[in-house]
Amino acid sequence: MTGYFTHRDCWKHEMGRGHPECPARLDAIEDRLLITGLGNALDRREAPLAPMGDLELAHDRRYMASLRGLSDNLREEIDAGGPTHAQLDPDTSLNVSTWDAALRAAGAALAATDAVLGGELENAFCAVRPPGHHACRDHAMGFCFLNNVAIAARYALARHGLQRVAIVDFDVHHGNGTEDIVAGDERILMVSFFQHPFYPEGGSRSSAGNLVNLPVPAYTLGPQVRELIEQAWMPRLEAFAPEMIFVSAGFDAHREDDLGQLGLVEQDYGWITQRIKDVARRHANGRIVSCLEGGYNLSALARSVEAHIRVLADV
Ligand SMILES: [Zn+2]
Repeated sequence: MTGYFTHRDCWKHEMGRGHPECPARLDAIEDRLLITGLGNALDRREAPLAPMGDLELAHDRRYMASLRGLSDNLREEIDAGGPTHAQLDPDTSLNVSTWDAALRAAGAALAATDAVLGGELENAFCAVRPPGHHACRDHAMGFCFLNNVAIAARYALARHGLQRVAIVDFDVHHGNGTEDIVAGDERILMVSFFQHPFYPEGGSRSSAGNLVNLPVPAYTLGPQVRELIEQAWMPRLEAFAPEMIFVSAGFDAHREDDLGQLGLVEQDYGWITQRIKDVARRHANGRIVSCLEGGYNLSALARSVEAHIRVLADV
């Protein structure tokens, strides 16, 4: 059975009118699951709030205290008639619900990890926001606050005693935050492809032996990406033999997405998911926890998530 983790708090975080990382993204996914009937095939669960002690597996304690403090201050300022958002970088800001939404997003990844490792679910998709893969050990950036996937990967190692886990990141942007947290941690293999040169810059060379970075130029199409995945991801994943796989599932490499210039279509996401599943079946007893990252064209996002979940759930 495939789990589907989300929480209404993830809708309440918003970063201002017209911001592409908006609550409507989750509505688009939910609508698609409803009209296709795919939602009926999933085990839907409420995401809990992540405990602070688990966030510290990937983040600096002072950073989390400052984020929480900013959230508390914002509440007081709003009561006093001040601004509704606290700006952290040019495109990342908090509203009063951001902290709780971020705790639910990380909590979804942790609860999904527990359920999959406990044998209740074969795999799981976390329909959450804010996303996480740009969140670094000690700072927020690029629409991200807490690195949901890095937290869950470390949690599987620390709390469940796994020896080796893989992180697969297929967002159009380089997962610099995840790299910042896991580079050099030999218990984790991170494989990714991303448009380059592009936001957030960097990543063109793998900075540590446990990273497989595949920078690809703008306008690269699905068949070329599939070829690269076969050549560069698959041998490393097979050799590493992960006991569990975490996915940073961003769908902004879709050709209809205006935040990136790659040319993937939903069938490519189905194909990539199948390749991840093949590795998981051979080495990890099928265990996959996938977390939503980017994807900003609402229609393309919904169709791509559907393709991803259809393969996870085998329906
Ligand atoms: Zn992205």
